[in-house]
Parts: sequence; C-alpha cells; structure tokens
Amino acid sequence: MESVNPHTGARSRSWDTHSEEEVDGKLAAADGAWKAWRATSFAERGKLMHAAAAVLRRRSDELAALMADEMGKVLRDGKAEVEKCAGCCDYYADHAQEFLANRSIDTDAADSHVAFDPLGVILAVMPWNFPLWQVFRFAAPSLMAGNVGVLKHASNVSGCAVVIEEIFSEAGFPKGVFTTLLVESKGIERIIRHPLIKAVTLTGSTPAGRSVAGIAGSELKKSVLELGGSDPYLVLEDADMDVAVDTCVKSRLINGGQSCIAAKRFIVVDALYEEFTRRYADAFRKIRYGDPRDANVDIGPMARADLRDGIHEQVQASVREGARLLVGGELPQGPGAYYPPTVLADVKPGMTAFDDEIFGPVAALIRAKDEDDAIELANRSPFGLGAAIFTRDKERAERLARRIESGSVFINALVKSDVRLPFGGVKHSGYGRELSWFGIHEFVNIKTVYHA
Ligand code: NDP
Repeated sequence: MESVNPHTGARSRSWDTHSEEEVDGKLAAADGAWKAWRATSFAERGKLMHAAAAVLRRRSDELAALMADEMGKVLRDGKAEVEKCAGCCDYYADHAQEFLANRSIDTDAADSHVAFDPLGVILAVMPWNFPLWQVFRFAAPSLMAGNVGVLKHASNVSGCAVVIEEIFSEAGFPKGVFTTLLVESKGIERIIRHPLIKAVTLTGSTPAGRSVAGIAGSELKKSVLELGGSDPYLVLEDADMDVAVDTCVKSRLINGGQSCIAAKRFIVVDALYEEFTRRYADAFRKIRYGDPRDANVDIGPMARADLRDGIHEQVQASVREGARLLVGGELPQGPGAYYPPTVLADVKPGMTAFDDEIFGPVAALIRAKDEDDAIELANRSPFGLGAAIFTRDKERAERLARRIESGSVFINALVKSDVRLPFGGVKHSGYGRELSWFGIHEFVNIKTVYHA
C-alpha cells in the first residue's frame, strides 16, 4: 500500500499488506484481549483513554504533518483535528460509565433493569478525509464500552493507520485492544465474515456502504454506516446575509470541500438570490489554495489525483447540463492534485451538482421560489446527512427543521460534529449514530435482567 503526497504527486512510503494468516492471528489476539478488557472497570479504561488524549496532544505537530503529507490537510486544520480527537478521548473517559449505567424499569419483578454489555471485536472501515478523527470518534466510545477495535483504514493513509495503533499502545492499552489491519478493500469481505468479528462500522462512500452492509447483513451482524451527504443550506429572506454568506463559504470549504458534512447545495430564496450569488462568488475568488504546509493557504490539494479528476468531470457535466460557471472550474497547471474553489450558479434538479455529491471545493447555488420550494428542493436528494437554515425567526426555523429529511439541522450555523451530540444520517447517508449517549449504545448488547 502506497502513500502519495498529493502536493507533489510523489510516492512517499509503502507498506506490505497483511496476509490472511496475519489477519487471522491479529483477530485471534484481539478476541483474546477482549476477554480481559471487558472485565476492566470504567476507571481503568478511563485512565488509559485520558493517556491516549495526552499522547495525541504531545504528538500533535507530527500528526498534522503526517496528514498533510498523506492527504493534503493544511497543518492548522490537522492540529485542530488532533485536538478534537484528544477531546473525544477525554469526554468518553469521563462519561462512558454514566451513559452505560444500568437502567431500572418498574415491572412486576422484584427488580428489572437493562444492562449494556460489550459485543467483542468491532471492525471499523474508515476513510482518508479526517484520518484521525473518523477513527477516534469510533474508538473512544467503543473501547470505553468494553469492546475492542480493529481498523481497516483507507489505502492512501496507511501512515495514519499505523500511527493510531501506536498511540493506543503508547498510552498503555493492552495489546490487541486496538489493532490496525493493513488490507485492501477486496480483503474486507473475508474479515466481516470472520466469526470473531461481531459488528462493523463504515464511514465512506455510498457504494462502499452498500457492499459492507450487504455482507454484514448476510452474516446477521450489526452495522453502522456514515456515508456521503449533499447538505442543503437554506437561506430565507429574513436571514442575516453576513452570517449566511460567511457560514456558507466556510462550510463548503471544510477540509478543502472533502467532508461529508460540508455544505454542498445552497438553496436561496428568490429575493436574496442575486445578492447572495454575487457575495458568495466574491468570497470564493479570494480563497487561496496551495501547499498544505504553507501557513498562508486556506485549502490544500485534493487527497488523490483520481478524486480531483472525478470532481472536474462532475463540474464539466454540470456546466453541460446548464449550470453557470462563475468561479474556478479550470484544472490548474503543475503537479499536485489541486482543484480551484469553484462556484456553479443556477443549479437545478437533474444536474450532476444537484443530484450527486461533489467531494471538493465546488459550490452549487440554487434558486428557490419561497420557503416551501426551498424545503422541497432540500429534500429532493438521495442523501440526508445534515442541513442548515438561515433565518432570524426561531419558531420558523424550528418548524422548517422538522420538515427536512436529515440527521441534523443547524440554525444560522454550519453543521459540525460534537462529541456530545449524535451524528449520522438518513436515506443514502446511512443509518445508526455515532457519538453521544446514542452512539455508544450502537455496539452494546442491550440486556434485560429480571429478578423474580
Ligand atoms: P471509499 O468509500 O471508497 O473509501 C472509504 C473506505 O472504504 C476506505 O477504507 C476504503 O478502502 C473502503 N472501501 C472502498 N470500497 C469498499 C468496498 N467495496 N467494500 C468495503 N470497503 C470499501 O471512498 P473513496 O476514497 O473512493 O472516495 C470516493 C467518494 O466517497 C468521495 O468522493 C466521497 O463522495 C465519498 N467519501 C465519503 C466520506 C465520508 O466522510 N462520508 C469519506 C470519504 C469518501 P480503500 O481505500 O482500500 O479502497
């Protein structure tokens, strides 16, 4: 497996994949580790999880540089990601016990309650866009619940995959509680079907999710899927335009536009459409892109050249279908998987930029007649991850939020994950939830205990 620096296009490192025998050995070791790990107290687990947070913080500069070199994340964002991972470890170290405490339920029993037992070895199939965060937001709650984790990371971020196992080991976690498997995606089916794997979580594309869920389903194993999104941001006529433009620009450019919850479709009511479009395009023209190690750039390259090429094809298709190209849209000269910040106006249903997810710095501006039309357009997508509404009217926002088919709705703010709030989607954005009280209950056996 190879890491290619997306800034230069040069190969930086390569790793041998694990053989089937090595994978089997690691799964057996993980299961062995689980037998002891499940018997540890929350206090013991919490101490180690706080130690993992400390390791992350200590190695922050190095980890940010690794992400910059493997997938092009700018250093500033990389450091923020490391801090978010550390905060996640601290949060579940402190709260897992309370989330997983027995729940008494009055029945005709002398005592009836619900206990939450760990399931065992959980497989995590993870993507390259937030190479640390995607893994830690699974691992921190799951390990605190008494499970053990095995990671199959995206093939282009093997350096991150290896270092995550190292972080848990350095923090003092027993061997086998968190294990990285270096395997290609074609090797995943065998791992999901392995009897020692009890459940699987995947963050990635909808096709990868379908495949993993299909295999897990045929084995009757639980799965959680966090897939793509085409988050609509609705700008209504009573919006604060400064807040709306600023937030919509920021959200579209999260991680260079390579985020499932980056805003993708901007649905603006007729009365504000022209002004919003002008201000949005002006803001995008000022975005600086370049070397992710340069402190003066806003966004880095796309993670891989093939992904960059795919984005360009989507933009070209949208223009052919009638979208108006206002900014960007031209492949830059020179090495590196760069794509310029791009604005497409007058996007409509049936166009690629409306119907598909564009995983890069490409904004689709859409005109809506009014509030009802905006909601209809928002829901006219196979995806349902996040959404945002810009209005000064709280009651209106609340009413409209309930009509949007998505896993979250943010009012006058950009959609973001927060360790305290559930995160996930509906429709083709997946099912199940990560994070919070809800997320930690995905991978436990909800056990009824009844005393006569
Ligand atoms: P993938 O979904 O292909 O990759 C995500 C993870 O799934 C990787 O570990 C990958 O392994 C694995 N994987 C890929 N195909 C399968 C499969 N059939 N069965 C099991 N596991 C599989 O994402 P890409 O890197 O190809 O990106 C393509 C698109 O996916 C993006 O443009 C974006 O739309 C979406 N995406 C969404 C993300 C999110 O946060 N929801 C994150 C990343 C991508 P390997 O790398 O070895 O192929």
